[in-house]
Amino acid sequence: MRLFFSPNQLLHQPTQYLVHGRIVSPLENANRGETLIKALGGLGLDAEEPGDAGLDAIAAVHASHYLDFLASAHERFQALPNGGPEVLPNVHPYASHASGFSARGAPRTNGILGQAGWYIGDMSCAMTAQTFAAAYASAQSAIAAADAVLSGAASSFALCRPPGHHAYVDRASGFCFLNNAAIAAERLRSRFGRVAILDFDTHHGDGTQAIFYARGDVFFGSTHTDPANYYPHFAGYAEERGIGDGEGCNLNLPLAPGSDDAAFVEAVRTLAEAADRFDAEAIVLSAGWDAHRDDPLSKLAVTTDAFARIGTVLGALGRPTVIVQEGGYSLAAVAEAAPQFVGAFSAAHRLRD
Ligand SMILES: [Zn+2]
Repeated sequence: MRLFFSPNQLLHQPTQYLVHGRIVSPLENANRGETLIKALGGLGLDAEEPGDAGLDAIAAVHASHYLDFLASAHERFQALPNGGPEVLPNVHPYASHASGFSARGAPRTNGILGQAGWYIGDMSCAMTAQTFAAAYASAQSAIAAADAVLSGAASSFALCRPPGHHAYVDRASGFCFLNNAAIAAERLRSRFGRVAILDFDTHHGDGTQAIFYARGDVFFGSTHTDPANYYPHFAGYAEERGIGDGEGCNLNLPLAPGSDDAAFVEAVRTLAEAADRFDAEAIVLSAGWDAHRDDPLSKLAVTTDAFARIGTVLGALGRPTVIVQEGGYSLAAVAEAAPQFVGAFSAAHRLRD
């Protein structure tokens, strides 16, 4: 398995995250990247730095007006009278979820305050001067991991930080700016006719779901904590099954708070069976470790052992696979779960004939 990571991904180091009405230090921080490099290094995986494939592979998923906003937002925000050090919205337009799952187009407002509200969906996405550079580098790791599989590697691991699965076509949210898993899946489509994205982060991958909701060539399956009282709140319900060409190509398996290893592993097994039935030629895994019971955001009772067990299940699918890093905020749990998963995945992974 090849591992991709760019040191530029560590440049995003915001200081503000609004949770439960308080501004605290972000849980999604640069220490996570360093922890994962060390943990996967223990398996003999050495990180390769991705090349720069440019913006095209990112623009294949994200709207150009959104990418323009990300690239310019911090500098424009600094020009505000008494502007804070990081871009954060103080308006919240009523449109995104009510308008369904398609891209919304550019906002009518030209101002940075209105645009910050339009493009930044929640208060976990503070932007520094270096945020776009870090998100761009994170996406380049996903592109390089997809390219490795396109050139014949059986599997690859994109150590994406900042993560991506809450990023929409034109919207940042949930610590995510660019949807690395979607970018990797779109890249894989250049060779593989049908791609399945399977997401076992404890939060529903609402951005990924939205991006492919009307697509019949990319299956999205996710197991996650029931969003009825959990982030991302407005998506991730079992009745969301896709629309148009994508009808039946979206599968959500919400888990009740308190669910244990057996429920988690069974849900991942159901996702794997669905990808098999979809006849996916390649797989992208949105890999989060935040279902772990020690994670500060977890409402589940999942242990390290379950991550080894789902590694076996997903490896046994036998498809070319790109693993994309998503969440996981207990450094101790991440340091256990990620290598347990990757070790078991690799042991079980034999490409089908
Ligand atoms: Zn998560």
